[in-house]
Amino acid sequence: MLRARRSVRIAIAGAGLGGVATAVKLKRAGITSFTVFERKGGAGGVWRQNTYPGCEVDVPSHAYSFSFMSYDWSGTHAKAPELERYVQDVIDEYQIREHFVFGCGIDTAIWSENRGAYIVVTDDGQQLEFDVVVSCVGMLSDANWPQLPGLDSFAGPVFHTSAYEHEHDLTTARVGVIGTGSTACQLVPALAPQVKHLRLFQREPGYVLPKPSRPYTADERVQWVKHPWRQKWDRFRLFRGARRVRDAFKADSDYQTRRRKTCQNFIAKTIDDPELRKTLTPDYPFGCKRPIFASDFYPSLNSDNVSVTPHAVVEVMPDGVIDADGTFHELDVLILATGFKATDYLRTLNVRGRGGRSLKSVWAGEPSAFLGMTVPGFPNFFIVYGPNTNGGWSVMTQLERQAEVIARVAGKIARGRADIIDTRSQAAAWFDSWVQRQIADKLSSTTAGACHNYYHSASGKNVTQWPLSHTAYWAALRVLPLWGFVTTRYGRRRAAEPVRACADAAQ
Ligand code: NAP
Repeated sequence: MLRARRSVRIAIAGAGLGGVATAVKLKRAGITSFTVFERKGGAGGVWRQNTYPGCEVDVPSHAYSFSFMSYDWSGTHAKAPELERYVQDVIDEYQIREHFVFGCGIDTAIWSENRGAYIVVTDDGQQLEFDVVVSCVGMLSDANWPQLPGLDSFAGPVFHTSAYEHEHDLTTARVGVIGTGSTACQLVPALAPQVKHLRLFQREPGYVLPKPSRPYTADERVQWVKHPWRQKWDRFRLFRGARRVRDAFKADSDYQTRRRKTCQNFIAKTIDDPELRKTLTPDYPFGCKRPIFASDFYPSLNSDNVSVTPHAVVEVMPDGVIDADGTFHELDVLILATGFKATDYLRTLNVRGRGGRSLKSVWAGEPSAFLGMTVPGFPNFFIVYGPNTNGGWSVMTQLERQAEVIARVAGKIARGRADIIDTRSQAAAWFDSWVQRQIADKLSSTTAGACHNYYHSASGKNVTQWPLSHTAYWAALRVLPLWGFVTTRYGRRRAAEPVRACADAAQ
């Protein structure tokens, strides 16, 4: 039970999985003075935003869920609407809906040394004061529109997969899909049967593994729900089994060789045309890009109405595109499966810390954070799913551990044991270089070959990946704050102030 001496006013930016995890952990720690600001009309983050045909998770649902909420999943791998529903059900189960403000995000957070708090400016211009600000804006939420000459001139519909336009009748359309990442590999099999012709533009092939996905039988579902321990046991089994996954990311490991072989066999087994097999076979180490899990992608490429162009698109014309080989392809619709600005952390949130310094200028294109969560000079500011925290296996686990740190810190403030928590510069520098050393060792496949991936900043530094296990991350988050966090007490007390910002937008 929390013995609060003061109310900690916490602003959370984003109501995706990270925002919801943080809200639940705070509530469970006895802290209820938080508000989650969400720009979109509802919670769910990427699982609300991505509605493209075939969108589903490629990590098993029993592992891609919160440890604090088992669920009646319809199958081994949930589709986007079910994941969005799960998020809603978590919010209701933990009775935290009243803390969410939809239709209004946080634009700017400015640290005030005098007040020992942040002035938070919302999208509709309100200025509110909070003791703690938490960024949960995610890493894969900002669409990457390719810089293609002539893109604006295309006469037909052009849209990104994360803002899918369902209103077009594509039955008579020649559709171009740019990109062959996880998204495209889910989209193509689902979309191909609905269009006249689908042309897939592949700049570089990915490693694709089969995904053993299936619906649960009615009996299985009853068992999972009736005996939650079985679901927990399955979760434990899945996490245990996934420990080997990381071994494949070492460029010279046996597991790397075995993974490559599995992918090559998968191509040989599923692709009819020998030329296409060559086109789809990567020539760089497994793990250089994020591996793709999709059983129906390769089979869909055998369809008569699907063609693969093994070149990037270099220019767009009103009635089609030109590929890197100089060939023109006539198209009616263009779908950009070109991913996200993953390395551009917190692009949509302006944060100013001590001395008015902006986080963007401190990072200067190379984001890094102590434990992936805090930056020296930005007191009481925390990032969920921040730099170098993407990894382990199921991101849900990473988010939960980070949310626990925030709940612990908030509890400390509430109990009057601290007012301001900043980060030691030496700790942040040490953590960054330690993570980079671990990446060089454990994720050597991400740099061993010349491949495009979304892990590296313009300078070539890996700014997205966590190189070790979930357990190692848990241990780091338990121990390192004792050294890396500097706490200051002001001894002030504030009255609890209910915060209802953006009330108009929420109605
Ligand atoms: P992605 O992996 O970044 O793939 C983007 C694709 O677009 C790549 O094939 C890339 O080519 C291509 N591309 C980008 N710019 C291009 C350009 N200018 N010209 C030609 N091609 C271009 O993005 P994503 O497929 O949306 O997936 C992003 C991440 O979202 C995944 O890695 C995963 O973490 C997550 N995701 C997860 C699931 C899930 O089931 N859990 C599902 C979908 C997505 P290159 O390969 O040459 O770079």
